[in-house]
Amino acid sequence: MFYREMKDHCGVFGYSSCDPAMTASMIYYGLFALQHRGQESCGIALENNGELQLVKKMGLVSQALGGENLGSMKGYRGIGHVRYSTAGTSCISDAQPLSAEVSKPYTDFISLAHNGNITNAGELRLQLKKEGMTFQTKADTEVILNLIARTQTGDLIRDLKEALSRLRGAFSLLILVKNRLIAVRDPHGVRPLVLGKKDDDWVVASETCALDIIRASFVREIAPGEIVVIENGNISCSNLDLPGPSRQCVFELIYFSRPDSFHFGTNVHMARKRMGQALAQSDKGLRADFVIAVPDSGIPAALGYSDASGIPYERGFTRNHYIGRSFIHPLQDQREMAVKVKLNPVFPVVNKRDLIVIDDSLVRGTTCRLIVKLLKDFGAKSVHLRFASPPVCFPCIYGIDTPDRNKLLAANYDIDGIKKFIGADSVAYLEIDKLRSCQECPDDFCYACFTGNYFDSV
Ligand code: SF4
Repeated sequence: MFYREMKDHCGVFGYSSCDPAMTASMIYYGLFALQHRGQESCGIALENNGELQLVKKMGLVSQALGGENLGSMKGYRGIGHVRYSTAGTSCISDAQPLSAEVSKPYTDFISLAHNGNITNAGELRLQLKKEGMTFQTKADTEVILNLIARTQTGDLIRDLKEALSRLRGAFSLLILVKNRLIAVRDPHGVRPLVLGKKDDDWVVASETCALDIIRASFVREIAPGEIVVIENGNISCSNLDLPGPSRQCVFELIYFSRPDSFHFGTNVHMARKRMGQALAQSDKGLRADFVIAVPDSGIPAALGYSDASGIPYERGFTRNHYIGRSFIHPLQDQREMAVKVKLNPVFPVVNKRDLIVIDDSLVRGTTCRLIVKLLKDFGAKSVHLRFASPPVCFPCIYGIDTPDRNKLLAANYDIDGIKKFIGADSVAYLEIDKLRSCQECPDDFCYACFTGNYFDSV
């Protein structure tokens, strides 16, 4: 699905450099590669000999941080963030990194960049307020910042273990303190976080596409519950010592992550292809002239479907890349106009053809309905819509902003009702067992938006 019925979340990027002049531009390029994870605001915090420099702006990385914006920033280490709000509000005060002055033996500041959602943030915020802590933002990230700030064991790792043990939900965190860059992943490993190396410099990022852009090599994924401290060009690893189990977000593989990225033990493009192949295996006997994709995230699954079914893959739509992402338009009719502006069927591929159309997921169904109508307007003989994942029936509480249940099509209609609403000749989706069988370690994933089985609800 090319436009979002579910809103984006966040991306983080950290860099520890031998050359303080390089850090800001490395983070800029890293954030540029992670732009798909959040388009609302972005920011960079750099540390140089105990001095913290911070820039945060609304808008896209290229506009907000490009040009002269980073010219004077220098530092041996830094963190960056791209954001779409899933908790908190859409304003500059909630943009990240969030920073605070503290009084600790090892640092007098903390800066934090967070991807995920803390499910007990409201309760923790209330407790902290009762203890006299104040809040400047509505973001759950400030709860984490305050928890770390008020924990006073005298030791960085002990402070982190104690503060972070109170969190529930999802957090992939980058933390900047004096002379150290720290990366932490929650014990369930919900959001991805990877470690990379560029010559003698260390990189931490939400996805490997951010390593590729600066030609850093992929070292490994940061493990669920792991704390990685980068100091003086060396890394040391410890653990939060909190119980798992591993619950990596399967939606990262279905839709959110970039297809060139590698995490959760797989390449995202190949994972999507496997889902398309599995979908075709459930569809034996269905014939069509072409398999086409709803671009862009439907493309790998459509290729997989075509491989497994033997039905040729064709490019059914041309996409206009020069409009903003349509989910930023809050009104439904504007969204629909944005779909028409952004996607146009390729007439000879579509006209008088029987088509199998592959989309990555079914959320509200409003985009699918318009896409089917577009294809029929262009003379498609039949449109068989296939989703390369089970239908979303439950909202996500771990950092993906899904609509309420009453707006999720499959939560309110059976398959016949869905087919009628969308106007397709047939509709089918990848069953949950088949989705699980596409993963090497199926039990390590979260499927809660399909099943309602939240692993850590509060
Ligand atoms: S509920 Fe869905 S979107 Fe949220 S973490 Fe689980 S699999 Fe991912």
